[in-house]
This record gives sequence, structure tokens and C-alpha cells, in this order.
Amino acid sequence: MNVDLVCATQQNNRVLIVDDNLTNKAILEDILHSNGYDTRYASEGKEGLNVVSGWNPSVILLDLVMPGMDGINVCREVRKMQLPTRPSIIVVSMKSDKETIVDSLAAGADDFIVKPINEAELIARVRAQLRINEFYKEIEEDKRNLETILAITTAMSATLDPSEVLGTIVSKVAGITEAVRCSIVLIVKEDEAYVLASHEDPAIRELKLDLAKYPEIKEVIATKTPLALNDVVNHPLMSGVKDSILDLKDMSLLIVPIVFNDEVLGTLFLRTKKKEHGYAQKEINFCRIVANSSFHALKNARLFEKVSKEKEYLKEIAVKDQLTSLYNHNFFYSRLEEEFERAVRYETPLSLIMVDIDNFKLINDTYGHRVGDVVLREIAGMIKRGVRKTDIVARYGGEEFAVVLPHTLLKGAVEEAERLRELVESHAYAGLVTERITISIGVASYPQKGAMNSGDLVNFADDALYKAKWSGKNCVKVAEV
Ligand code: GH3
Ligand code: MG
Ligand code: MG
Repeated sequence: MNVDLVCATQQNNRVLIVDDNLTNKAILEDILHSNGYDTRYASEGKEGLNVVSGWNPSVILLDLVMPGMDGINVCREVRKMQLPTRPSIIVVSMKSDKETIVDSLAAGADDFIVKPINEAELIARVRAQLRINEFYKEIEEDKRNLETILAITTAMSATLDPSEVLGTIVSKVAGITEAVRCSIVLIVKEDEAYVLASHEDPAIRELKLDLAKYPEIKEVIATKTPLALNDVVNHPLMSGVKDSILDLKDMSLLIVPIVFNDEVLGTLFLRTKKKEHGYAQKEINFCRIVANSSFHALKNARLFEKVSKEKEYLKEIAVKDQLTSLYNHNFFYSRLEEEFERAVRYETPLSLIMVDIDNFKLINDTYGHRVGDVVLREIAGMIKRGVRKTDIVARYGGEEFAVVLPHTLLKGAVEEAERLRELVESHAYAGLVTERITISIGVASYPQKGAMNSGDLVNFADDALYKAKWSGKNCVKVAEV
């Protein structure tokens, strides 16, 4: 007998005896008990039905002739009941005529024994029924597994979003395996992995795992075969992390690699309540099928992430100036235009600061272009740090910068410009010996007469900057009204 069948028999040893005759009851009980079966007894039909619904026996030994509801009607009633598992009914009767046997089977009985009872025959027939029940259960299980695989493949074809696919996989697998935790782990590097989906927390997207703490996952990556751990805490594989996994003492783990073309891309990770007999081979096989079917979703998730990151990067460099990492000229104009339209629509103020470094040519001429670049970068950093988070700082041209200040009146902008001027003036620059660097600033604001669009605002700020240069540099000037 294989291990599966032993457990099945241990779980399905409930036999209900329904018979009004106490001598029959005693004989049946005696035989069944001595063969290791658990029994209940009902002396008439109605009482029998109550035991069926409350106790859920695997086999019912049913007498036909009883006061009240007879055996045939009990059969019919049992077959109408919604029960977690279908009980087998063996009619045990004095009658042996063909008509009685046919009627019993037609009413829903599975087998027929003629009294007097023969121990060997009774036990053989009960066992045969239990065997059939096991097949029923297996078919039910296979059906459930197939339905789950179908649901997963349907989900895969219904969406291109890998995280949605992986989310469906973990929730379906958790449902069928009664897992406390079911997750999909993406392996990135030797010690780096991410939980991409977990059924207990559907919001999880990218939880980083330090694989040094998960020797079981490393083992599965190395062997490329599923690993089932029943006594997790005392398993030799876990000796190095024993202290940190004490909460797993009542758990069993199943880790299945997600492999394709010999590449382990990730693992399906299951944590269930401790299994007395370990994971059944069928359960492991089911998880293997699911794990393999999730390969493409996982691969897409990895690609998706890589492409999104590259896209982010390209977007970033398209709007940034390489030397200073500030926004570039184009981005400045488009943002200024947006902010100008918003200011007009919501009648809010908007200011613009234009900055030009004084005598910068001299710095280049004295120290060379490279030092000039360093100074430019330092000033860019100072301006960026010196303004509010909501302000937009851009490199407008060679040694010119622009700051867009949404929701800011002229007065506030001048104050901010003055602060920047002082910051730059008081800074000691790396690479310069004695020189101090100063900046000239022009400020313009909306609303202002003649400022009809963002271009007007730039012109006003430019004019003011020109005025600052003419006034001897290192100062802040505002556009004339
Ligand atoms: P002013 O006070 O009138 O603004 O004088 P200035 O010397 O700063 O102005 P001018 O327009 O004559 O010279 C600007 C200098 O800025 C010339 C150019 O070499 C330098 N410059 C522009 N872009 C860069 C850059 O990316 N790196 C370096 N090192 N220098 C730059
Ligand atoms: Mg200059
Ligand atoms: Mg200039």
C-alpha cells in the first residue's frame, strides 16, 4: 500500500450503521471496530440522516426494513443532501431477491450485502467503497487543479500587466493549497531577489529579499528542483538561520523553481500549516505546472521593469542639462508656458528670475574651461538648494540660469533673488585663489502691464538683468512697469 492510500484510509474510516436490530448492530460494530473503523449508530432512518449531515461518514451500512422511514427512502434522501464528500451506501439486508437489489441500487445505493454477515466479505466491500471514494476525491482534486490552471492561463491572456498575472497566480495557488503565504520571488543576482507578488498582501510590488537569509531558496536555485520542508526549524539546511525562523515551527515550506531552458528566473514560495505527512506529490506537481506557466509573466515583469527604468532615464536626460543636472532651456520654456497659463487661469501670481554670472569669461581665461565648469556646477547647486522645492531651476544658457517661481509675487521673488545673490557672493570656490564670484539678477512678475504671455515675462526679466549689468553688476533689478 502506498503512503497516500494509508493516509486516505486513516482519514476515511467513518462508518455509520443504520439498523433497527440491536443484534445486527452489535455484530457489525464488532467486526468494524476490530478492523480499525470508527462507527456511529442510528436505530431508524430519520436519525440516520441527522448523523449523515452532522458526522459525514464515508460509508453507510443500511438496513432496508425499519420502522418509520425504510432503507430505500433513506438512500433517496441521502442522495439529495449537499455533503462535503459523497458517502457510499451499502445495503445490508435479509432480502436477496433481484427486485430488492435493483430497487436499492436505483435509489442510490452503491453495493448490496445479504445477511447473515460474513466478516471477510463485509470488510472487503467496505474497503472497495473507500477505494472508489478515494478515486472520486482524486478526480475532484484534479478537476480543481485543472480549473485553477485554466483560470491562470485565462488571466495571462486577458492582461499584459505582469504584476496582475502574478497576483492572480499567487491568489489561486494559495486558495487551492490553503497556503498561509504564497508568493513569487524574482531572482536578480546571486544574493538579490524580490518578492513580486504575494497573496496575503496584494499591494506588494517589489519587496527586496536578502537571499543570505533564505538558504531554502538558494538551494532550489542551485538544484533547480522543488524542495519541500516539513520540519522547517530542524532541517539541516536551515541550521544557519535557525534562530530567526522559530516562528516557522508549525509551518511547512514548499519552494518550486520557475525554470525555463535551464534558467531559474524565480521561485514559487509556499508556506502552509505543518503537514503531518508532508506535501503530496500531486500538490508538488501542480505547483510545478503553475510555476512553469508563470515563467513568461515573470520574464515580462523583469523586461517591463528594465524598459520602464530605461524610459525614465531617457525622459530624465531629455529634459536635463548634462553639466549642471538642472533642467535645460527647452524644458524651462515649456514649464514656464504651463505655469503662465495656470497663473492666468487661476489668477495667481508668477515670478521669473534670470541670473547671469558676472565676468565669467575672466574665470575661464584665468583658470581654464575645466575650472570654469566646476564653478558653474557649484553655482547651479547653490541656486537649486537656495530656492523652494516648488520652484523650477534651469540652465538658460552658457553662464545664465532661470528660476520660475509659481504662486510668488514680485516682492517674494526679489527677496529670493537677493538671497541667491548673497549666497553666490559669499561662497569660496574650490580651485579659485582669491576671486569672488558674483551674479547679476533680473526679476519680472505676472500680473504686470504688458506681460501677455510667457515670452513677455522672459523679455522683462532679461531687460531687468541688462539693467543690473549696467548698474555695476552684483545686484538685483526688477522690470520696469
Ligand atoms: P558679464 O559680466 O557681462 O556677464 O561678463 P561675462 O564674461 O560673464 O559674459 P560673456 O557673455 O562675455 O562671457 C560668458 C562666458 O561664459 C564665455 C563662455 O566661455 C563662458 N561659458 C559659457 N558656457 C560655458 C561652459 O559650459 N563652461 C565654461 N567653462 N564656460 C562657459
Ligand atoms: Mg556673464
Ligand atoms: Mg551671459
